[in-house]
Amino acid sequence: FLSGKRALVTGSTSGIGLAMARGLRAEGAQIVLTGFGDQAEIAALQDELGSDYVGADLTTAAGCEALMDGAMENGGTLDILVNNAGMQHVSPVEDFPPEKWDLIIALNLTAAFHTTRRAVPGMKEAGWGRIINTASAHSLTASPFKSAYNASKHGIAGFTKTIALELAQTGVTANCISPGYVWTTLIENQIPDTMAARGLSRDEVVNDVLLAKQPTKKFVQPEEVAALAVFLCRPEAGNITGANYSIDGGWTAG
Ligand code: NAD
Repeated sequence: FLSGKRALVTGSTSGIGLAMARGLRAEGAQIVLTGFGDQAEIAALQDELGSDYVGADLTTAAGCEALMDGAMENGGTLDILVNNAGMQHVSPVEDFPPEKWDLIIALNLTAAFHTTRRAVPGMKEAGWGRIINTASAHSLTASPFKSAYNASKHGIAGFTKTIALELAQTGVTANCISPGYVWTTLIENQIPDTMAARGLSRDEVVNDVLLAKQPTKKFVQPEEVAALAVFLCRPEAGNITGANYSIDGGWTAG
């Protein structure tokens, strides 16, 4: 049902974004792949998805502009924009490196502003569009030692509601998906810092910190998050806008 639609998924070289790109591709969308990775890996993904690739560092406004210039070259437009690229840093606030704070806010929040403001005119013109932002359970609740991440994710939830209202009568929807813990490199990479910040072993971090939050005691799968993103692109989802969908094994129910 997405043939003829063009979708940009940020952070689509890995984890949740890659699963979303695969899910949208399976429904016929043309994918613009973006994110970091080695050349061979990116070439293999381009082959698999039959996609264009535009490389950009989305922690800078110039990087976001370059991405959008590449994704919409020759006057092209986007039908689906998924703001998914994100990063984490775990540290007590008094030791939190200010440069890490700036990078996390830039990637997890400000990049979505830059991509959205460039994508919206074409979507409005077409009278159809889907903006999907990967927020987090941390857009609804907080955990200690993740000050920048939690601030950025609460921020993107507010940004999403705002654009949903602005675009309400245009055929363009804007929604957040808020996963709990999904097993990706983003989680793997925070385990050592969480061990240090809390004085715990690796197993204790996985079982007593991460899965302690999820009543199901299971990590969410990237494909489960992707299926929700695909649903939000369906015609039947045209009246879903400004929503923040939890997919967190019951975490935020508690
Ligand atoms: P991941 O590390 O597997 O993927 C992150 C992607 O972002 C990669 O493609 C990477 O290349 C890209 N990226 C990183 N820095 C970038 C930069 N400076 N410029 C451009 N691209 C950059 O992580 P993931 O778990 O798939 O995370 C995807 C999103 O899901 C993030 O927004 C994250 O906050 C969110 N999320 C993840 C979890 C989880 O448990 N994994 C839970 C809730 C929300």
